[in-house]
Amino acid sequence: MPTRLYPCTPTRLGTWLDCPRRYRFGYLDRPAPPKGPPWAHNSIGSAVHSALADWWGLPFAQRLPARGIDLVRKRWITDGFPDAEEALAARERAAIWVEEYLLRVDPADEPIGVERTVAAPTARLAVSGRVDRIDLRPDGRLAIVDYKTGRRPPGPDDVRGSLALALYAVAASRTLRRECSRVELHHVPTGEVVAHDHTPSSLARKIDEAESIAYDCSRADAAHASGRTGDDVFPPRPSRLCGWCDYRRHCPEGRAATPGTPV
Ligand code: SF4
Repeated sequence: MPTRLYPCTPTRLGTWLDCPRRYRFGYLDRPAPPKGPPWAHNSIGSAVHSALADWWGLPFAQRLPARGIDLVRKRWITDGFPDAEEALAARERAAIWVEEYLLRVDPADEPIGVERTVAAPTARLAVSGRVDRIDLRPDGRLAIVDYKTGRRPPGPDDVRGSLALALYAVAASRTLRRECSRVELHHVPTGEVVAHDHTPSSLARKIDEAESIAYDCSRADAAHASGRTGDDVFPPRPSRLCGWCDYRRHCPEGRAATPGTPV
């Protein structure tokens, strides 16, 4: 009998690695525990991503950097901001980021995919995910572009080490039937871009890594299905990430790790 492939996204694998308890809350417990209040940084990220996707959907003649400002305002959501004034200030900041980022973009460089879902099987996985942008570069190869909106611009280690970006490259290559080895992080607030060119062997290592994590996930999924939901299978892994965890209110260890953060 062929082994059933484990269906997953890079986000699912990353959540298991970051914190098995959060993985249980987010992917296995049903109904899932109620999430905490929304985060302003998620609202900013969502509006910026949506505005950039919308911009590529405009007719070519309308793809002017200043249109990015309108699109951010149109896509803006105020969830997570303490008051209207702070939300408005953040909206205008994000609109400027997008406009300045688009000043460096050639509107004629039509991406081959925008918010495109890609998928690929490996020996043990059926991996899929949605990519912010997939470019077709002059050498005929694809490049994965992932937008970032956090405070800190990502560095070379972030792009080289990213399991998600490597899996997107593998899946894009399979879905679009073109070579894809280049992955890029675009930090929209500063316009900084960090890139990495994978080799066949570095991609193979990332697939091995993903399959190893997925093996652990599948064992944890089976344990949960048989009623084993305790910390022996799903231990909390407190870290600075607890400050942004949607399930912090249900997790004493996470709250202890990030005192002073609202629940
Ligand atoms: S608060 Fe921290 S330790 Fe608790 S579930 Fe979330 S990430 Fe894990």
